[in-house]
Amino acid sequence: MSDINAGTGATGEGTGNTADTDAGRDMGSAMGQDTGSALREDAGRPTGRATGQDAGQDTGGTTEHDTGHDGGRDAGSAMPGDTDSATARDTARDAGDADILVIGGGMAGASVAAMLAGSARVILLEAESQPGYHTTGRSAAMYEPTYGPRAMRALTRAGLDFFTNPPEIFGEGPLISPRASLFVAPEEERALLETTRDEVGRDQFEDLDAEAIRRAVPVLKAGYAVDGALNHGGSDIDVARMHQGFLRMLRAGGGTVATDARVEALTRDADGLWEARTRKGSWRAPVVVNAAGAWADQLGEMAGAEPIGLVPKRRTALIVAAPEGMDVQAWPLVVNAAETWYMKPDAGRLLISPANEDPQMPADAQPDELDVAICIDRVMTACDLDIRRVESQWAGLRSFVADKEPVAGWSDVVPGFYWLAGQGGYGIQSAPALARFAAAQLLGRPVPADIAAEGLDAAQLAPGRLAGAERFTG
Ligand SMILES: Cc1cc2nc3c(=O)[nH]c(=O)nc-3n(C[C@H](O)[C@H](O)[C@H](O)COP(=O)(O)OP(=O)(O)OC[C@H]3O[C@@H](n4cnc5c(N)ncnc54)[C@H](O)[C@@H]3O)c2cc1C
Repeated sequence: MSDINAGTGATGEGTGNTADTDAGRDMGSAMGQDTGSALREDAGRPTGRATGQDAGQDTGGTTEHDTGHDGGRDAGSAMPGDTDSATARDTARDAGDADILVIGGGMAGASVAAMLAGSARVILLEAESQPGYHTTGRSAAMYEPTYGPRAMRALTRAGLDFFTNPPEIFGEGPLISPRASLFVAPEEERALLETTRDEVGRDQFEDLDAEAIRRAVPVLKAGYAVDGALNHGGSDIDVARMHQGFLRMLRAGGGTVATDARVEALTRDADGLWEARTRKGSWRAPVVVNAAGAWADQLGEMAGAEPIGLVPKRRTALIVAAPEGMDVQAWPLVVNAAETWYMKPDAGRLLISPANEDPQMPADAQPDELDVAICIDRVMTACDLDIRRVESQWAGLRSFVADKEPVAGWSDVVPGFYWLAGQGGYGIQSAPALARFAAAQLLGRPVPADIAAEGLDAAQLAPGRLAGAERFTG
């Protein structure tokens, strides 16, 4: 029926400072329960609750397994054994429960599933009861086109139109609202800031001297920053609305979402059909998209695919009160050139982070008490802020491969297995363009012209560039 491309790269077929320690536990559990916090929802950061609940309402019951788990088994076993023949692939396509199984319901999985839905039969399998529970629900919600390595920046730029004019199904108005970003340098970080200017392009920034920096963010200590680079192209993203919009778009295109469906085994039979087994049942399709976030290398191992050397790195964030009597809403995001702390307004309060990148095995990440203390210390060193109480705190895993660029492309080892991983700290801002790129490859189409025009080519994202990488084991 559909024009999906069950190819592989190999064959060329497809193409408080009372740092209230309880706050961590509260927040951690709140991710899956009701925090009742208007703050987090207002901030556009979907807690597990915010995205999950809506998704549950929309998807629960109706979505789960209406597609008939186990439904493909009989048809699959009746198929011919010639996996290389086009006939076998076509038969496999017709025999499965879907054309494409997308594994992982965070921003990556939801966005690619949505982009595919009109052209292929898509089933999204999510381990948790609430899609968005892991990294997607824990971001700082920034669209910052000067942030990240080259291909990430190109994807971020290519997504601007989508953020500004999303499809109607996302609701009214843009998904972003302006928020400038200010990179600041104390004397010892001057050279680093110069490097950022050189790499990103000097025309992207307004240069600020010490006085102008303090006018922009009056809470910065006099004498802290001697040089500043202000980018006016950044924005806050309404992450919850965006994620929900993709899930709605998926369903409107005939796709389904199965929650509580952790894929525990992934095998491909002689007829070219993948079978994803979960405790809720099994689903079959000729193509699998690995959008499992921090778990992507583990899912790859399950499928017999090559390792991409993905390392999940924990990052912690805290919400603290704004200084008494100050309206912080118009402040830019402030980050030091060495990226050892940042701060941004968040619904009348301040979101602060030690910008940590602590490697750990995939899990429901929790903030470490030491990270919280370091965060407060760094922010109080740079700013005249008296942080006595942490209102909430959380941690999430930003997962990187060696070059910090995303991995999007067919496995070189197993047919019909597509990688969509390694979005690191940029997976929200890059999602619309990255999903379009991945959907085009999955459907056997060329790189969308506007994405190519940003200087991005498929080889920059292909898993093949990571040949020889080893699986991270902690
Ligand atoms: C503190 C912090 C700040 C950040 N700030 C920003 C920012 O300002 N801007 C930005 O663009 N990005 C930011 N990021 C990064 C961004 O959040 C991530 O890049 C993005 O959310 C990754 O999305 P994902 O879908 O790949 O991962 P996830 O959201 O983690 O989704 C992966 C999903 O796969 C599921 N899964 C895993 N294994 C299986 C399995 N076997 N079967 C079924 N399902 C499975 C998981 O349950 C999970 O829901 C930030 C991240 C953090 C932690």
